[in-house]
Order: sequence, then C-alpha cells, then structure tokens
Amino acid sequence: MAKKRVKVGFVGLGLMGAPMAANVLKAGFPLRVWNRTADKAEPLVAAGAGRATTATDAARGSDFVIVMVADDTALDSVLFGENGLSRGLKRGAVLINCSTTSPAISYRAATALRSISVRYLEAPVMRSVQAARDGKLQMLVGGNRDDFAKAEPVLKTMASDIHHIGEIGKASTLKLALNLVVATMIQTFAEYFVLARKTGIPFETLMDVLKVGPLDSQLFRYAEQAVVNPGARPSFFLKHMLKDVNLAMDLARQMDVPTPLTSEVRQMLVAAKNLNRGDEDFAALVDLMAQWAGVPMRG
Ligand code: NAP
Repeated sequence: MAKKRVKVGFVGLGLMGAPMAANVLKAGFPLRVWNRTADKAEPLVAAGAGRATTATDAARGSDFVIVMVADDTALDSVLFGENGLSRGLKRGAVLINCSTTSPAISYRAATALRSISVRYLEAPVMRSVQAARDGKLQMLVGGNRDDFAKAEPVLKTMASDIHHIGEIGKASTLKLALNLVVATMIQTFAEYFVLARKTGIPFETLMDVLKVGPLDSQLFRYAEQAVVNPGARPSFFLKHMLKDVNLAMDLARQMDVPTPLTSEVRQMLVAAKNLNRGDEDFAALVDLMAQWAGVPMRG
C-alpha cells in the first residue's frame, strides 16, 4: 500500500482516539482529524495532521475513516447526524469503528453505509491508553474478510494483535463478553484487597503474593497502579465500563443468557456513577469497596 496516496480520516480524539490517530500519522498516512471538542485536535494538527471542520469534512476524500467515540449515541451522531461522516464518505471508502458499541448499531451502520457503497468494519480494541500510545492494542475485527485485508495496513499502525473474528456483530459481541471478565475481575480484586487489608496485611504483601502466584494478571497490575497512584489520569472511565456492562447485559437478556456475577458488578458501577465517580478510572471500584469495608487504601 503506497501510504502517501491512501488518505485516512479520524473522528474521536479522546483518551484512546488521540494516541491511535497519532500512530496512523506517524506511520506516514496523510491524516485529517475531527473531534467534537475541537481543542483535542491541536496536538495532532501540530504534529502534521489536517484539521477537519466537521465529521463530513474528515470523510471527504478519505479512503479509510476510523471512528473512536464513546458509545452508540456518539457513533450514530458522528455517522448520521447533521455534518456526519455519511454525508462525506466516498464510494468504496471503508469506515472502521473502533469504539465499543452494540452489535445492533454495527448491523444498522453497515446496512446504511452499504446503500451508499461504503464498507463497514467493526474493530473494537482491548488494552488501554499505554498500548494505544505504543501501537500495541489488541483488535477484534468483524466484517467482510476482503475489507479487513484492505484495511489491515492501517489497522497495523494501531494494533499489534489483530484477530478477524467473523461477520459484523461478532467482534463487538466478543468485546462486550471480554469486558464482562474485566469488570468482574476488578470487583474480585477489590474484595481480595479489602478482606486482606481489614486484617492489617500491608498492601505490598498482598500484591507480592498475588503477583508471584497462579492468579497474576495484567488486570490486577492495572488495579495495583490505581492504588499506588490514585491521582493518576484515568485510563478507562468508569462510566464507559458501566456502558459496556449495560450493553453486554442487554445482549444477554435478548438471548436468555444468565449473567449473575455481572449483575452484581453492575450494581457497584451504578452506585459509583451516582456518587459522581463516572469520570474516574473504573479502578475507583477498589476505593469504593475500601470505603464500604472501612479500610484505608494504603498504610
Ligand atoms: P473518551 O476519552 O471519553 O473519548 C470519547 C470520545 O467520544 C471523545 O472524542 C468524545 O468527544 C467523543 N464523543 C462522545 N460523545 C459524542 C457525541 N455525542 N458526538 C461526537 N463525539 C462524541 O473515551 P476513550 O477512553 O477514548 O474510549 C473511546 C471508546 O473506546 C469507548 O467506546 C470505550 O469504551 C472504548 N475503549 C476504551 C478503552 C480505554 O482503556 N480507555 C479501552 C478499550 C476500549 P469530546 O472530546 O467532545 O467529549
């Protein structure tokens, strides 16, 4: 693929979208970016990206457009709203939705875009902001295999592990199922943490034991960082984890799949959000559990 001739648009420059777009640019693709809150585009424009005035403008002339927005509502708005991408996408372009959204909106988007001869891939990602910066996301792709093959050089600028899961809907379903694991693991960590802390076991000891034992995981190390450095900038907002759990549970309800553990964790996420913690990292669940248990986070 001659990178200079392949034009890429990028919409949604939040915690994840900004570093992902930076990697597309660094790889040599001419890039035009748009974000609802315009100033988030500044660092990318300073690095050489073109500034689009609207999502429609970001789509014009682009061969690929990547979208990384919060949720179904945001995706619907940037695709089909006033000044949305669908008004600017050219025939044969590929729209790549990296946001974590429902399979239902993927079916709808794919059908609507097909009617204007635009291809659609869903490509939700695992891992977080650091992996987005390093271009080492894990990506699950749903959609036509030929469209995937065409998009792969662009996807590879953002992700080191890319899996074609199947047709549209399958990748977003798998992503939601994976996030059920993430949500329940953080709650499990929080319960381990508070029980051990209540008996006075130092934080360092309970982490050391966890890390060398059979239960070690990247997720527990992520939770550890949230305890060690509670003032750090969030990597994954708690409100987005609640959104994912809600989407997963909607799916489960539609298919008569029981999700008892996830239902419990959802209660915790709802409580945390109502306590105005939605814009904190989802590891705030550990702090909330510490409060409930009456134990200090450190010491
Ligand atoms: P974020 O920082 O909250 O960014 C959300 C983006 O969506 C921002 O660009 C925001 O624009 C835009 N947006 C929200 N509502 C919109 C609307 N109605 N119209 C247009 N744009 C809208 O979130 P993030 O962490 O980057 O996550 C993005 C997606 O990736 C989410 O679906 C999330 O679940 C998923 N994800 C996140 C992580 C992670 O670790 N952070 C990992 C994997 C997957 P403004 O700047 O104007 O608000």
